[in-house]
Amino acid sequence: MTEWQALRGLVEGELRLSGEPGYAQDRMPRNQRFAANRPAAFLTAAHAGDVAAAVDWARTASVPLAVRGGGHSYAGYCVSTGLVLDLRNLVGVRFDPDTGLVTVGGGTPMKTVYAALRPYDVTIPLGNSDTVGIGGLTLGGGVTSISRAHGLTCDALVSTDVVLADATMVTASAREHQDLFWACRGGGGGNFGVNTSFTFQTRPAPAGSTCLVLWPRPCAVEVLAAAQEIMRTAPDGFSARIGIARSPGGDTVVSMVGHHLGPAAQLRDLIAPACAVAPPVRADIEDRNFWDAATYLHHSSAGGAFAVKTRCTPHAIDDAGLATLVRAVDKWPGSENPDGAGAALFAWGGAISRVPVADTAFPHRDTRFLLSLDTSWTQADSPETVRANLKWLSALHAESGEFAPDASYVNFTDPDLADWRRAYYGTNADRLAEVKRRYDPDRFFAFPQAV
Ligand SMILES: Cc1cc2nc3c(=O)[nH]c(=O)nc-3n(C[C@H](O)[C@H](O)[C@H](O)COP(=O)(O)OP(=O)(O)OC[C@H]3O[C@@H](n4cnc5c(N)ncnc54)[C@H](O)[C@@H]3O)c2cc1C
Repeated sequence: MTEWQALRGLVEGELRLSGEPGYAQDRMPRNQRFAANRPAAFLTAAHAGDVAAAVDWARTASVPLAVRGGGHSYAGYCVSTGLVLDLRNLVGVRFDPDTGLVTVGGGTPMKTVYAALRPYDVTIPLGNSDTVGIGGLTLGGGVTSISRAHGLTCDALVSTDVVLADATMVTASAREHQDLFWACRGGGGGNFGVNTSFTFQTRPAPAGSTCLVLWPRPCAVEVLAAAQEIMRTAPDGFSARIGIARSPGGDTVVSMVGHHLGPAAQLRDLIAPACAVAPPVRADIEDRNFWDAATYLHHSSAGGAFAVKTRCTPHAIDDAGLATLVRAVDKWPGSENPDGAGAALFAWGGAISRVPVADTAFPHRDTRFLLSLDTSWTQADSPETVRANLKWLSALHAESGEFAPDASYVNFTDPDLADWRRAYYGTNADRLAEVKRRYDPDRFFAFPQAV
């Protein structure tokens, strides 16, 4: 009997070895930049017991293991060369109306969490995609359109069940395994164990309004500056993504996509200074209940391959910095991917900043804007085009070091980032390394940027 046959006998879930029917179907990283990574096998766990059995088996057999939640790791870390533990069937959502606590299976996608909470009109800070997994989102922090008012996804975490490297199952919370609980709030997915469930404190789902405002390229720097200034004094209930982007064959466009936990009339007043700088070519501003707002703000992507680099900045970017971003987007080398390329400023602060840096592993509490630089391509693009895009992104990231620090958001994972420990984890890096030594002394949970 081979080792793999032995594993099949230990689990109830579906094991698919390379070459078998069903292998890799829908289980590869969603970022096609990593489509060539071929694991030996995928195991779709039926329950937490399967997770423990697989961890035990992989450790004994010295087979590298990767955990796949929603599969959205920008760096493809949900796949290894060995066994991929696919959590797609760990998707139960249980809400207790008496306590307001919701317990979510470790592989649950956003759309399932939204659908389960909607009948109760309660929520936690959830991401803006149907398919992002609760595991990756929470473990890396989780910044959402209500985070300036309600905090990060991980700030709502009350406890989490974890299968450790020695295959034991523990619950981490403020009372038990406190260090592990601390690390599971921003320390990054896949580092300390396999989180089979997460329990969060929900809050009433806030009604509000949304905006999508677009401006043409000529007034880009002035509009971006005005939009940043709006966010300096905005109430915590207002959050926005301010961006400049290009798609293939298209013109450069400036955008402000916002979610305000107040009426559209207030939102109109809030964004008026940016609209006064230059008339928008489009301005959709509407009252929406929380659920309609979430749907409206959902990120739609053409898929394909992409790369992202980030910087967390505690201050607004000055005009010279904004001009650098605009010039770079103008010079994007192009590709066939309709997602194109761009630079975006996600407004953070508010409730995110009111949690002390040492309270959770998420270190970027003083960040005013997450600067996210991205580019995309397709598998139809030539290797030269791919190289040109990656070179363009690296050059822009290097140039933006002039006006934004080397701090980076672990959930917008950048596999090419050099000093990623300090960039992702700042002053929490050393304590995270200690937690890793305690819970995974043999570094069983390993990938290129594992703590
Ligand atoms: C369309 C889109 C929208 C997004 N929107 C947001 C957003 O609004 N806010 C935000 O903060 N981020 C957002 N992100 C980024 C997202 O948070 C990260 O990509 C996240 O890591 C994805 O998690 P996943 O489970 O889908 O991916 P995976 O690739 O499955 O997992 C990511 C990492 O976490 C590990 N992991 C996953 N589940 C578990 C688990 N249960 N236990 C242990 N380790 C686990 C994996 O091994 C991997 O290393 C978005 C990404 C995309 C593509």
